[in-house]
Amino acid sequence: MIDTLKINIERVAKSRLSEVDFSNIPFGKNFTDHMFLADYRDGEWKNLHIIPYGYMPVSPATPAIHYGQSIFEGMKAHRGPTGETLVFRPADNWKRMNISAARMCMPLIPEDLFMDSLSTLIDLDRQWIPDTEGSSLYIRPFMFSADEYIGIRPSQDFTFMIILSPAGPYYAAPVKVKIETHYTRAVAGGTGYAKAGGNYGGAIYPAKLAQEKGYHQLIWTDGKNHEYIEESGTMNVMFVINDTLVTPALSDSILAGITRDSVLTLARHWGMKVAERKIAVKEIIEGIEDGTVTEAFGVGTAATIAPIELIGHEGKDYVLPPVESRKFSTKVYQELDAIKRGTMPDPFGWIARM
Ligand SMILES: *Cc1c(COP(=O)(O)O)cnc(C)c1O
Repeated sequence: MIDTLKINIERVAKSRLSEVDFSNIPFGKNFTDHMFLADYRDGEWKNLHIIPYGYMPVSPATPAIHYGQSIFEGMKAHRGPTGETLVFRPADNWKRMNISAARMCMPLIPEDLFMDSLSTLIDLDRQWIPDTEGSSLYIRPFMFSADEYIGIRPSQDFTFMIILSPAGPYYAAPVKVKIETHYTRAVAGGTGYAKAGGNYGGAIYPAKLAQEKGYHQLIWTDGKNHEYIEESGTMNVMFVINDTLVTPALSDSILAGITRDSVLTLARHWGMKVAERKIAVKEIIEGIEDGTVTEAFGVGTAATIAPIELIGHEGKDYVLPPVESRKFSTKVYQELDAIKRGTMPDPFGWIARM
């Protein structure tokens, strides 16, 4: 598909690396020296290039700005024990990006374009991978319509980019969540299963309302009757109920998280009972009250495993057992982290060395 994967590289004159305080790097605010871009023109990907990270010209008439024709991915890299860069499941992010692209009427990205641009960019900015315990390099591939046309129709031109952001230790402090029973993130037939920009813009307001009441995040419920649990803002959710790991079955209103899949895979590998099914809000509330729900946590690339401390529902808070008592989520957090850092064997072939 791509005739030649030649990537033109323009290096920075002077790295900004020494300006970054690696003992204090908030998530998503620092970017490495370089960024990758490719243009989709006349039905093919061309002009693959890496340039210094910075602002770029975009037409004020681009449909990405007006109509949200824009998709993204998120994954992480760590420095392994012998200095190599370990990227967690990038081929799965590539596949998911193409699922999002198809839904949003955008061109597919060939695997070699995704992987080669990623490894070339990482190679240039390798020194930016934080070494401090718990830190990582967050990788953000994204694609947007680059037409100059303010009408709603499939676009012709697109830009695919990758930027990299060093992220400091992420303390997975227990979170307070509110079950959302009024606003809706995604519905059957919608775009919830795609990592499409607009899904997130619309979620900010309900999340802000919950934050004003002291919650960190929302748990979304089905858009029809708000009876069944779906997922959180950028995390899937899981519960341990009577020693079984339970999570909502995937549907077109739930994002198929790669962390979700990794946790399910590890649990099955350990011989734990696992169920992907509908979970009624009522089941969780009653289960917290009668003690059968022993763990609740969010799973996603940023936090990996975020223990849920309490769940708010219709004005009442339901407190879960203390985090120290949670055997499964503690074990799965440690093991997943060790696989990502290359300090434990990787039996499922999840790590790509770059
Ligand atoms: C990205 C995302 C997730 C988690 O996916 P991971 O691949 O595990 O990072 C879950 N839900 C939503 C809505 C997301 O955007």
